[in-house]
Amino acid sequence: MAGAPPSLPPFAAIIVAAGKGLRVGGDTPKQFRNWRGKPVLRHSAEALLAAGAAPLIVMTSADGAAAANAALAGLPFTLAQGGATRQESVRNGLEALAAQAPQAVLIHDAARPDLPRAVIARLLGALADHQGAIPVLPVVDSLAVDDGAGQMAGKAERETLRRVQTPQAFRYADILAAHRAWAGPLDAGDDAQVLAVSGGSVALVEGDERLKKITFAEDFVDTTAPAFRIGQGYDVHRLETGEELWLCGVQIPHDKGLSGHSDADVALHAITDAVLGAIGAGDIGTHFPPSDPQWRGARSAQFLEHAVSLAREAGYAVANCDLTLICEAPKIGPHRPAMRAAVARIMHLGEDAVSIKATTTERLGFTGRGEGIAAQAIVLLQRA
Ligand code: MG
Repeated sequence: MAGAPPSLPPFAAIIVAAGKGLRVGGDTPKQFRNWRGKPVLRHSAEALLAAGAAPLIVMTSADGAAAANAALAGLPFTLAQGGATRQESVRNGLEALAAQAPQAVLIHDAARPDLPRAVIARLLGALADHQGAIPVLPVVDSLAVDDGAGQMAGKAERETLRRVQTPQAFRYADILAAHRAWAGPLDAGDDAQVLAVSGGSVALVEGDERLKKITFAEDFVDTTAPAFRIGQGYDVHRLETGEELWLCGVQIPHDKGLSGHSDADVALHAITDAVLGAIGAGDIGTHFPPSDPQWRGARSAQFLEHAVSLAREAGYAVANCDLTLICEAPKIGPHRPAMRAAVARIMHLGEDAVSIKATTTERLGFTGRGEGIAAQAIVLLQRA
């Protein structure tokens, strides 16, 4: 049986999560977006806490506080206000630790979620002989110097150059003094540079490729997630006189219509549940409760649009959708082309990826008696 990992020297940790991080695209800063099933920020917070970080300070902008609290729900941490620059944020974080005055502090960027315990152990070990320690990796490509006009001006010696990662480890008193004394450019490149300017020695320890910074949208594609996911949905609504009949987002002339939640489009409800089922995100009632008056008479297309966008956020695109409507009347055939086009449009699919079928139940049961319409759908999702 594997025992607990050997314990590490005590340390405090600061995670800088104040960046806007919009280069990856989307409206949510990258540190709060999901990556491998949870927010980017939560990954390194959990890794630091598991290694014994106490306390853990998380620096965020004022408008990022709610997202940070949600991302870290249930974990022991203290939220602190970031500054205008990264250097100012770190200094605020260090000042927030003044009362505890820990021996050592790790300063980490939230955008590096995959933080191995072994790197933390190497950093803390190096503090025995140095005021600071940083994880580095060799440069494998050859390097060229750009003259500023797109022409090679010379080469750099890659053998002596290192790529620098975070977390960076410091003796607390030394890095606090260095930040307080910092009079350099508005934003220091990183904390090791702040310490080095004040004369502290910085050890280089072996980093880890897994610690790479999430920068571009493709970094969010989780290649360990299943390539395909499948979901099914089923729904029934009652036919009543005096109601409109909506099926697949198309209004159908008929002597009765479907009653119920929203516009009662039984077909779109079944497809919505199939999409939600494929990503394990509950059902249509979870997201749009029938008890909520805002959905009374609502267009069901928006429910399906929302489900498809949730699938996209989870890293999946819809591959195809197959729907069966079960009713005695109206005849579906004449409306099939319009329904297929409408579903394709709502789901951002080609029409060849949408199938709409219909069957009767030979006058048996509630559908056979014309009391209601049932729909069942299957949707296949493919990793984007
Ligand atoms: Mg329904």
